[in-house]
Amino acid sequence: MAPIATQYDFIVIGGGSGGSGAARRASGWYGAKTLLVENGRSGGTCVNVGCVPKKITWNFASVSEMLKDGVHYGYDIPKDIKFNFAEFKRKRDADVKGLNGAYERNWSRENIDLVRGTATFTGQKEIEVEVGEGEKRIYTAPHILIATGGKPVLPKGIPGSEHGITSDGFFDIEDLPKRMAFIGAGYIAVELAGVMAAIGVETHLFIRGNTFLRNFDPMVQNTMTKRYEDAGVIIHKSHQGFKEVIQVQDGRPGQKVLRLIEQDGSELEVNELLWAIGRAPEIERLNLSSVGVELKQKGHVQVDEYQNTSVLGIYALGDVTGQAELTPVAIAAGRALSNRLFGVNHPRGGPHLANAKLDYTNIPTVVFAHPEVGTIGLTEPQAVEKFGKENVKTYHTRFTSMFYDFHPAEEKKMNPTEYKLICEGPEEKIVGMHILGLGSSEMMQGFGVAVKMGARKRDFDSCVAIHPTSGEELVTLK
Ligand code: FAD
Ligand code: NDP
Repeated sequence: MAPIATQYDFIVIGGGSGGSGAARRASGWYGAKTLLVENGRSGGTCVNVGCVPKKITWNFASVSEMLKDGVHYGYDIPKDIKFNFAEFKRKRDADVKGLNGAYERNWSRENIDLVRGTATFTGQKEIEVEVGEGEKRIYTAPHILIATGGKPVLPKGIPGSEHGITSDGFFDIEDLPKRMAFIGAGYIAVELAGVMAAIGVETHLFIRGNTFLRNFDPMVQNTMTKRYEDAGVIIHKSHQGFKEVIQVQDGRPGQKVLRLIEQDGSELEVNELLWAIGRAPEIERLNLSSVGVELKQKGHVQVDEYQNTSVLGIYALGDVTGQAELTPVAIAAGRALSNRLFGVNHPRGGPHLANAKLDYTNIPTVVFAHPEVGTIGLTEPQAVEKFGKENVKTYHTRFTSMFYDFHPAEEKKMNPTEYKLICEGPEEKIVGMHILGLGSSEMMQGFGVAVKMGARKRDFDSCVAIHPTSGEELVTLK
């Protein structure tokens, strides 16, 4: 007998950043009868294998850097301070587990029904969820949201590539490898390689170009690539891709022996290899073609500015759509969607929400590299292409933060702070801002508000500096 369908106002597939944001707004604020389907750990990528454990590990590495800096201030810090990475990992895991519980408590408090299992579309208003061994349940709703996120990809055509790990496996490492290779040049490669190098792992970074972070402003690319080299990361530039990866010795993450064979036959043995060459949308088991949901070329779900897919009543947001793959973006898009769907006639909302949507322009973002990089808006080449060279004016400064006053000259040189403002037209509207150096991640959030509001150079200048900070350089640029 076919299972009886349970009806909801709203079905959300995926309990990560975007799905949770949408479900909580729909149910918690507007009382929509909401079902959340999740087949993994509550909180999705960000909580379990993304932002949260990554930032905690970045903090761990920052402590290590600070201990080295302390010597220059006169602290009697032994050179070879021992640390217990396995103990740190246990604490990090416990932190993440706590967040899993917090997510679940919020869902329960906000009357969201949670079902554990994998959702598959069986109609435009209907999904089937496999909840256990062969047990299937059917749910229907006029509104169904796809918020299934993404997953890391492995390269095609490299025999043995499966012996390496991705960012998911990074968080399983308990004992640090002696030598580790990272392949990729984006956020993940730069962040995770930076962490490992800072805590003493011999770190090799393989990049296809001459710089990493190639989607960022040239200032960021050049300075950060050089900074990583100065800090001891061995960067293999213009890399052609490996011919083969041979597992010489199996072992726990970080404790293997892998032989990387280059195109010219040369070899490098490492204890771990991490692929960070991008992520793909998680759509495999959704059966989207059966209901007519259109996809983009790389498999991301096609949406309009209101997160509508090609099928009425089916929406998508977050990483599965490939739009600015960041947690706050997914959350904000989820809240905006629920405002539009359920808030218009609700006392907590109003008619102004009829066209609620996320504005995807000027989203600030940070790479938790060493040091941090913050960016918002256009890069200089993008601004020149958009407005013409004659209409773009840039302001730039590079200096050493006062924090390094007691460091030897060669270390000072290795630790630059650098800021760039990109302005457009006679009004000098700020259309791009790129910063790197200590404290840049926290600074970026505040300056992001100003840029989002449409600040001009003279608005920055009119703000009295806070002295002595690095940030004051941004309001005194000449
Ligand atoms: P996800 O959080 O991935 O959630 C999707 C959920 O859907 C998952 O829980 C999955 O189990 C579930 N699911 C999938 N298919 C189904 C199905 N068929 N049925 C039921 N459930 C399903 N962003 C930042 O803003 N700052 C950072 O510092 C940052 N660091 C990152 C570090 C790493 C290593 C990684 C990998 C990502 C990082 N990100 C960061 C990006 C951020 O994690 C993602 O942009 C964000 O998690 C996307 O949210 P989402 O809701 O779209 O998807
Ligand atoms: P990215 O898209 O940022 O970077 C992947 C990079 O790897 C590409 O830009 C490319 O650089 C390189 N690459 C692609 N294919 C290959 C290949 N076959 N061999 C070698 N190199 C290759 O992806 P990530 O996986 O780093 O991160 C995914 C997304 O997650 C990010 O875009 C970001 O939105 C989000 N994220 C956000 C973070 C944050 O907010 N701090 C942290 C981590 C992730 P090139 O062309 O130069 O070779």
